[in-house]
Amino acid sequence: PVVLGIESSCDETGAGLVRDGVLLGQAVASSMDEHARYGGVVPEIAARAHVHAMAPVVREALDRAGLTLGQVGAVAVTTGPGLSGALQVGVAAAKSYAFSLGVPLYGVHHLAGHVAAAGLAGGPLPNPCVVLIVSGGHTSLLLVRDLARDPIVHLGDTLDDAAGECFDKTARILGLPYPGGPAVDRAARDGDPHAVRLPRPLTGPGDHPYAFSFSGLKTAAARWVEGHRAAGAEPRVADAAASLQEAIADTLTRKAVRACVDHGIGTLVVVGGVAANSRVRALTEQRCAAAGIALRVPPLPLCTDNGAMVAAIGDLLVRAGAAPAPLDVSIDPSAPLEYAALTPRALRP
Ligand code: ATP
Ligand code: MG
Ligand code: FE
Repeated sequence: PVVLGIESSCDETGAGLVRDGVLLGQAVASSMDEHARYGGVVPEIAARAHVHAMAPVVREALDRAGLTLGQVGAVAVTTGPGLSGALQVGVAAAKSYAFSLGVPLYGVHHLAGHVAAAGLAGGPLPNPCVVLIVSGGHTSLLLVRDLARDPIVHLGDTLDDAAGECFDKTARILGLPYPGGPAVDRAARDGDPHAVRLPRPLTGPGDHPYAFSFSGLKTAAARWVEGHRAAGAEPRVADAAASLQEAIADTLTRKAVRACVDHGIGTLVVVGGVAANSRVRALTEQRCAAAGIALRVPPLPLCTDNGAMVAAIGDLLVRAGAAPAPLDVSIDPSAPLEYAALTPRALRP
């Protein structure tokens, strides 16, 4: 069947259509511009924007796929984690589509969606693989087997800020526009990545090999800026941006490659908004090639939040014969990532 995927956990309203692992069409609307002057996502504004965008986005995804609503055979929706008001809108919409079309509904974990997105470009994901999720809200190394059936193993997570959050917060300190990640990436082009000596957190011999910590980088960058200003000198933003980007890319890729080597796994998958970063991409390619590890990074539109990723995980669940969610399934804003499907345990295959 054709699976309609709906995503609304943060500031992107996404709809995607997937059948048998093939992406047929997708559309995304973002309320990012409405949050820019607040310097971060405002939950109420995000939820209202989802209400406005939902039906048009679903319509546009169908148009791009050359399909009609009547051809949809299942609906998948992100039930968590995310902003509760924002999730509520997507789940309400998904229930309406599923109920009115008389097709099954699947509630899925947002991060499992990010992982599944990588399977939409370049064929199904190998089993097993190591996945590095790097986004605005998450930084985790996962060991993934069969995404639709097996539990997801957490190798390590960030102990404080996510990598994207570190990009965003440091960009603010440096006076760069919101969202900070792309702005740092652009500014770094003219900078010296070794100009500012920044730490490589948790990479010492006694440290957790797969855990991350990024809040110290932001503080170190702030201190560097203050030091310059106190001395009456203008800090070179490009140098700070390049140095920050290097520290984050170095730490992420070192630990991701190590996780593959330690577990004897031949494929690394990198997903989430930070996978768009040019230095993260270049350094992962270089280090994976050196270690003989195959690298999968989906194209940029599949890296950030979108509906295709939700349709992708829904498609895997349908084909695995997973039990659908009840039509009164509720949101779970802080859902832990254990299984891709956020359906009750008792209903799992
Ligand atoms: P989550 O998926 O964890 O709920 P999210 O929805 O905010 O969080 P994404 O939409 O996947 O995450 O990614 C957004 C993040 O990616 C932001 O922090 C943004 O700054 C960062 N980002 C996007 N492009 C780049 C880039 N080129 N370099 C660095 N960071 C980037
Ligand atoms: Mg986002
Ligand atoms: Fe996301």
